[in-house]
Amino acid sequence: LPEYAFIGRSNVGKSSLINMLTDRKSLAKTSGRPGKTQLINHFLINDNWFLVDLPGYGYARVSKSTKKTFQKFITNYFEQRQQLVSAFVLIDIRHKPQPVDLEFMQYLGEKEIPFSIIFTKADKLKPKAIERHVEEYCNHLLRFWEELPPHFVTSSSKKIGQDEVLGFIAETNEEIEGLRNN
Ligand code: GDP
Repeated sequence: LPEYAFIGRSNVGKSSLINMLTDRKSLAKTSGRPGKTQLINHFLINDNWFLVDLPGYGYARVSKSTKKTFQKFITNYFEQRQQLVSAFVLIDIRHKPQPVDLEFMQYLGEKEIPFSIIFTKADKLKPKAIERHVEEYCNHLLRFWEELPPHFVTSSSKKIGQDEVLGFIAETNEEIEGLRNN
């Protein structure tokens, strides 16, 4: 079955987003404590795709060796997953482009792994500011990339963006299915 991997810096709102997308409040544990999602979790959705919850990256408060172990975990996943269709890189919409995220997207690009960006916590900004932040972020990416990845604006607390993300996944799955049948 096709897999879609969700990843981002710790505390970006990944667990909350996964809970929103899956409509199950207690599926992925949320916490204010960074670095709590420590293992790779697979969630079967609609019996036709897997949501893959990858460990967060870029914690400030863990040792170098822990960081290395996590990186290894993440790169192993990306290098071995045959079923991976696309990754979703989560970015807190309030943040300016951060090296750790840009480097990670660069890595995905080098590995030719398709990815989308999900801007999280949109409820923390006013609509005008959301637009401005997304535009600034995209402009920054266009300095390094010829093409922008698909991007989504979400808020887990206000249930924004759920249909867009799930719709994108459903469409992509249909395309894959179509290719397979031809
Ligand atoms: P993770 O470490 O990336 O899994 O992040 P969590 O989902 O545990 O969220 C980290 C913190 O951000 C928690 O305190 C959440 O309540 C908060 N949070 C997550 N998503 C949202 C959101 O959409 N809006 C707001 N206002 N807070 C959020």
